[in-house]
Amino acid sequence: MKAFSYARPGTPEAAAALAQRPGAKFIGGGTNLLDLMKLEIEQPTQLIDVNRLGLDKIEPAPGGGLRIGATVRNADLAADERVRTSYPVLARALLAGASGQLRNKATTAGNLLQRTRCYYFYDTARPCNKREPGSGCSAMQGFNRIHAIVGTSAQCIATHPSDMAVAMRVLDADVETVSASGAKRVIPIADFHRLPGNTPHIETSLQPGEIITAVTLPAPLPGTQIYRKVRDRASYAFALVSVAAIVDTTAGNIRSARLAFGGVAHQPWRVAKAEAVLEGATQRDRSSDAAADLVLAGAKGFGHNDFKIPLLRRTLRAVLAEA
Ligand code: SF4
Repeated sequence: MKAFSYARPGTPEAAAALAQRPGAKFIGGGTNLLDLMKLEIEQPTQLIDVNRLGLDKIEPAPGGGLRIGATVRNADLAADERVRTSYPVLARALLAGASGQLRNKATTAGNLLQRTRCYYFYDTARPCNKREPGSGCSAMQGFNRIHAIVGTSAQCIATHPSDMAVAMRVLDADVETVSASGAKRVIPIADFHRLPGNTPHIETSLQPGEIITAVTLPAPLPGTQIYRKVRDRASYAFALVSVAAIVDTTAGNIRSARLAFGGVAHQPWRVAKAEAVLEGATQRDRSSDAAADLVLAGAKGFGHNDFKIPLLRRTLRAVLAEA
């Protein structure tokens, strides 16, 4: 690990001001960043500790929603009674992620900002456009079992590993930020994580120096909430395919459906047309297949991850049957 300096500012604006310096990085729980520093993939010259910024509260939001501070721990968020009762898809997604120890440390903002688990991103002996722009992508022709099938580019086929973000996407959460000047911004989560395109090293729509202060959930929605995660082990494994769903039914028919998918793209994957096709559906299996066709429009496997295409279809069918 390389030498770095450490600062512990007292306000989000002060933290954002420090972050304008080249080589500065925020640290909350450090559950991803410290691993990356030990491997010298991240080499910050300054760490900005965000744990004393007063961003650790879960509060009611205007309009009946919930405002989650950026440094609220994943374990505390999953255990919050309001989350468990009104946003169970979020509680279940959180509990499906990582391990108990990691959830005790990991923060809301850090979870959104975690880096991909692509094997080659962590292997400094191999080319990786995300780690070193222009060097190439080792996963395209390599072992790509965990990689994306939609939203990929010729530069990168990595996935975003978060479960929490998939639930926040189906809930239409907003990410709140502040800059050193005090300017505040609200970023819909749909616009927060970027697809790789030609710049896979730029992963979010955050500007340099901008700091996440909270994530706001809108008022609870009617319907059954489900988070189903398919993975190689029963715990402590990233999603191969996951589905966050909010399905409102009447007399066995679907009145409305929201669906977000994890493990398949560089961002939580949501397709409005797929949700529309399910509205009013009476023949569940047929409409599930039609929705999956729309979710998977343009999907492409890279060899080892071809199985994700039929797996997504079957997982969606199981989720709709459960709902
Ligand atoms: Fe790097 Fe992305 Fe290719 Fe993985 S998929 S090796 S992160 S460029």
